[in-house]
Amino acid sequence: MTIDMAAERLECDALIVGSGAGALCAALTACHAGLDVLVLEKEPWFGGASARSGGGLWIPGNKLGAAAGIADSREEMMTYFRHEAGPLFDEARVTAFLDNGPRMLDFVTANSPVRFVLLQGVSDYHPHHPGGKSEGRAIMAASLSAKLLGREIKRLRRPMKVSTFMGMQIGIEDFRYFYTAGRNLKSFLHVTRMVLRSMIERIVHGQPMRLASGNALVGGLAASCFGSGVRIMTSAPVRALRTTGDAVTGAVAEIDGRMVDIMARKGVLLATGGFPHDSERRARLFPSGARNPEVWSLMPYGNSGDGLRMGEAVGAHVEEAMRCAVALSPMSRVDTDEGEMRSFPVFSTRGNPGKLAVKRNGRRFVDEASSYHDFSVGLLAASQGEPDAIAYVISDHRSIRRYGLGFAHPYPMPLGPHLRSGYVIRGETIGELAEKAGIDAEALTQTVETFNANARTGIDPDFGRGSNAYDRWAGDPAHKPNPCLGPLEQGPYYAVRVFAGAVGTFAGLMTNANAQVLRRDGSVIPGLYAAGNDLASITGGDYIGGGCTIGPAMTFGYIAGKHMGGQP
Ligand SMILES: Cc1cc2nc3c(=O)[nH]c(=O)nc-3n(C[C@H](O)[C@H](O)[C@H](O)COP(=O)(O)OP(=O)(O)OC[C@H]3O[C@@H](n4cnc5c(N)ncnc54)[C@H](O)[C@@H]3O)c2cc1C
Repeated sequence: MTIDMAAERLECDALIVGSGAGALCAALTACHAGLDVLVLEKEPWFGGASARSGGGLWIPGNKLGAAAGIADSREEMMTYFRHEAGPLFDEARVTAFLDNGPRMLDFVTANSPVRFVLLQGVSDYHPHHPGGKSEGRAIMAASLSAKLLGREIKRLRRPMKVSTFMGMQIGIEDFRYFYTAGRNLKSFLHVTRMVLRSMIERIVHGQPMRLASGNALVGGLAASCFGSGVRIMTSAPVRALRTTGDAVTGAVAEIDGRMVDIMARKGVLLATGGFPHDSERRARLFPSGARNPEVWSLMPYGNSGDGLRMGEAVGAHVEEAMRCAVALSPMSRVDTDEGEMRSFPVFSTRGNPGKLAVKRNGRRFVDEASSYHDFSVGLLAASQGEPDAIAYVISDHRSIRRYGLGFAHPYPMPLGPHLRSGYVIRGETIGELAEKAGIDAEALTQTVETFNANARTGIDPDFGRGSNAYDRWAGDPAHKPNPCLGPLEQGPYYAVRVFAGAVGTFAGLMTNANAQVLRRDGSVIPGLYAAGNDLASITGGDYIGGGCTIGPAMTFGYIAGKHMGGQP
């Protein structure tokens, strides 16, 4: 790489804009294809939302599912995509994803410390739809030691504070231990060991050394990038693309307060994380009840639509006509001791026995155990004409202590602080709870009575809760006859307020099967690629499986890296 900062000019083969999992996968692939690679990241930390994430990847046809004996076929995968994406099904891109996803995993496993594990029992988000599977397609990054990154650990974006436990990172594989520590000796010992190890590491190294979930994924990819000679510059926002004729040949970036002209001989990849904080596009494309203040988005503030705007400036087409332009999740509001307000995603705990969700009118509106995206779509639909989409998840005492509720974790974690902060509202009776929360008391009492009668039979005639594999995974296997349906019968009763918020965006730059960016007429813009949420989602704007943003992000990053390296 030629670096001549005095002349405010830089040269490389491949310029990667952004540093999430897709970007780093592209950088590593291009580097292994023999290219000289430069990664530019706008924020002081690399990793983006990918580093905050659960580190889950949805890759149909992965070897881990096959090794566990889970049958899956190309026909079933195509059928699922065709059904989920509907009129937006893009056979060429889906084929490229299905062909290259497993290859990408082989490449990452062979060339980085990242290791993947099967998410056992985790189904597609619509396993009951044609081609849907009840297990085998969702995997996640296993935890890693932060020592791999050496001093670069300081530049890795850390997970959200609300998703750590005493500063310790917790992976999805640890959840079942944490959630059952109060009632299972094995879980209690597992958690105790983790806490003790983390305390010792804090004394020896100044911080816990375990990277989990998205931090493990990004940390492992970055460690390999550093080891292979890829340069990752942070606090280096790319401001515009540079063109020669109709081709993209580089970019202009702001580095150390100076505008630097960067020439990229083989191509530029845009992976700037979509548009969750682009107020103009958000106002236009987010569903009305989810346009509420930025705090309901868990995406880093740097993800402000730069990639889409820079692409459009050189003629790229942004596909906005998605089923839903945004990936949604119910969010709850946590007021911290430091007087700050944070969002906590209520990804799970909504569909346990002894819980239901209602609007202020006291009526249920959705299958509470469905995916966070589907729950939120249901919430938005039920909130038409209201300024914000708000609901309350209601729990009885046994359920909140056994399974937790949002940020209020189960026994033995104390409930008192959440009651004092107002995060959890309590009432001795359903009527008192409704009054305190501002819910129609008569309607809620009626809803709970009907729900309880149905729950005792294990059938939810209104919303079919527990009728598919995803719902049942979110429940308690020990609860019979339906693992996610149980009456609310032991007071006091509790409520947590949830809003519709964002965990990503689906609308994005139109690309072909090589991850090359296209103009509206379908022609290729030479030298320009996209990955991650900058690329129009191959799902057509739906959350179809856990990891269905990072799986395709890394796969199209891999495809782009190969293509830039002349290995399509
Ligand atoms: C709590 C949480 C858990 C999640 N868990 C999962 C999961 O397990 N699996 C899954 O698939 N999805 C998950 N998601 C969603 C997922 O994290 C995102 O969809 C995904 O990480 C987006 O990847 P990306 O590469 O597009 O963007 P990012 O990873 O956000 O990377 C984009 C980067 O580009 C940088 N950037 C922006 N503009 C510029 C510029 N002009 N110049 C240089 N750099 C720029 C940004 O600062 C950012 O660092 C989760 C989301 C959240 C919030």
